Amino acid sequence: MLVHGEVKEEKVKNIYNLGLKELPLKQMVEEFYQVEVSIRNDAKCAGLAEKKYGSLQNYEDAVFLCLGTGIGGATFLKGELLKPHKNAGSEYGHMVIQKESGIPCKCGRTGCFEKYCSMQAFKENVKKILNLPATTEAKEIVEQIMENRQKEELEQYIEKYIDDLYIGLANIVKIIEPQAISLGGSFVYYKDILYTKLLEKVEQEKNLIEMPKIVLASLGNDAGMIGAVL
Ligand SMILES: [Zn+2]
Repeated sequence: MLVHGEVKEEKVKNIYNLGLKELPLKQMVEEFYQVEVSIRNDAKCAGLAEKKYGSLQNYEDAVFLCLGTGIGGATFLKGELLKPHKNAGSEYGHMVIQKESGIPCKCGRTGCFEKYCSMQAFKENVKKILNLPATTEAKEIVEQIMENRQKEELEQYIEKYIDDLYIGLANIVKIIEPQAISLGGSFVYYKDILYTKLLEKVEQEKNLIEMPKIVLASLGNDAGMIGAVL
């Protein structure tokens, strides 16, 4: 089973999106369905798949970020997934990037990376700026952004989104020094809008921070399922 939250010893911890601190999910599912299951974190599985078959296969030290509802992560050092003794680690989504008047996060802190750069945050902000209904799907959001590029408020927001994303990535680079960072999740759908701009920002700031290769996840939505059996 693939889940959000930190998976450690078949328990799920800190599923902030659902407001849960710890859940013995393996035991619960096994008792209910009477089958043996294994619990895995969705971002780490997608990262494993990208490392073995996708965008990160040529890199030994790499970070995978799954930008979706939140921001999940997987870190690889010398080719191996980083598995700390304590908790699951690589919870990059809860790295604080805005200390002063940061947006409150369900983890209890304020200013977490995912409150600014998850695709949920991005979509909600774009919908607000363009007055789109709450139910607008990703494909239509992309079309609406393309049609409204002359709208200053939208352009300013996209600039800010890229600045925030760059801060988060630069922090990761300073700590891990990966050879590559792969961006996955629904971020990939906004490739033409966000990825291109991010690469421009990396180029602009290259004298300040030597960024590694920033690549897009290549296995799409199947990455999590592929990684779950690795
Ligand atoms: Zn948080």
